[in-house]
Amino acid sequence: MHSTECVIIKLANPTAHKRAWLHETALTFSRAVQYGLDIAEKEHISSRTKIHNVVYHIARELGLQSSYARMSVNAAVSLARSYFGLCKVQRHVSFPKINGSQGIGLGINAYKIVQTNGRFILRVSTSKHHSYHWFPLCVPERYHYRMPLVYGDAKLFQRGRDWYVSLPIRITTTPPVCDGEHTFIGVDLGIVRHATVSFPDCVVFFNGKPARQKREHLANLRRRYQVHRRTDRVRQQKGKETRWMTDLNHKISRRIVDLSALYPNPIIVLERLDGIHNRVHGSKKFNRMIASWAFRQLINFIKYKAAREHISVIFCDPRGTSKTCPKCGHATRSNRPSQSSFRCVACNYQANADYVASCNIAVQGLYAFAHGPTDMARLQGQTENINSRPDGAQANKQLLVDSNPVSS
Ligand SMILES: [Zn+2]
Repeated sequence: MHSTECVIIKLANPTAHKRAWLHETALTFSRAVQYGLDIAEKEHISSRTKIHNVVYHIARELGLQSSYARMSVNAAVSLARSYFGLCKVQRHVSFPKINGSQGIGLGINAYKIVQTNGRFILRVSTSKHHSYHWFPLCVPERYHYRMPLVYGDAKLFQRGRDWYVSLPIRITTTPPVCDGEHTFIGVDLGIVRHATVSFPDCVVFFNGKPARQKREHLANLRRRYQVHRRTDRVRQQKGKETRWMTDLNHKISRRIVDLSALYPNPIIVLERLDGIHNRVHGSKKFNRMIASWAFRQLINFIKYKAAREHISVIFCDPRGTSKTCPKCGHATRSNRPSQSSFRCVACNYQANADYVASCNIAVQGLYAFAHGPTDMARLQGQTENINSRPDGAQANKQLLVDSNPVSS
């Protein structure tokens, strides 16, 4: 099995001659892509073969080498397909247009990473036969070991004055060899706590409060800038917030995966994302926070970090996980007297609500792993494994009340 991730590397200050080549090629490439889009819009098609038949020759005539021509067809096809896909779900979108910042698609045969004297150089074919441009790369040391794993179609693009290359890294992930019982680790995602992770012997909470405060602070700043019509500052702030959120998600996912790796044959169980938005109801402000909190990103980070450590990630149906008693299986809304507490009306079992949800998710994972997906109601009597976890009272003592990744 393989998983692919991308690294973005800066080109080390290309010479004027190479810059001119990059600009010119990017322009030609964009023209070819736009041509493909025009065809797709006019004929209402997204078939690769049909678009290829028309665009490829034109791209070649524009002076693109065959590999670039193929990439321009691919770019047009994927843009057209994403447009038609959005149309299907009835989003109001306009047909994509290339505005000059499309970058240059580098086919797998159009480039090579060469290492000389500890430096990495990107060798790119030009339109002439056996003629190349050599771009020294600024590869951070932590990426060095990944450079031999570069495999697949890449992309050159410009941000500001600098040029970057986005390189696909192919990582072989062998399925974990299981010698014994699996450890199911349930992860409950939320707003008040970003993540609650139930391990067999402890619970880890990732408190969402500092992040919420930070976001509110940034939102206030933005509002103030808007009053003073500083749109440049608003944009700057938005970028800052996004970067900060990404960083936070990296830290949370890293902790979850590192801790999971300490257990034998771990399987991380996550709830399917579509559930989160339906499950939580709250004030307008709360809903806005839900919408903006990057759950999908966090899930993706957990997935790829786990894949590197050969840890499986499975998904379960989140319905009922927050109101089902992990002891007796009784499921009702009344089990949740408040947002943070859980008290079973049938057996009086008490615990933190997020902890209960993460345990239920682990149970769901266990069951889904053995029998395929199911609903919580059928899980009664199947919970021995998870019930050996600390119960409510114990759990409160054993909480590793996070390890707050936000405070840095
Ligand atoms: Zn109960």
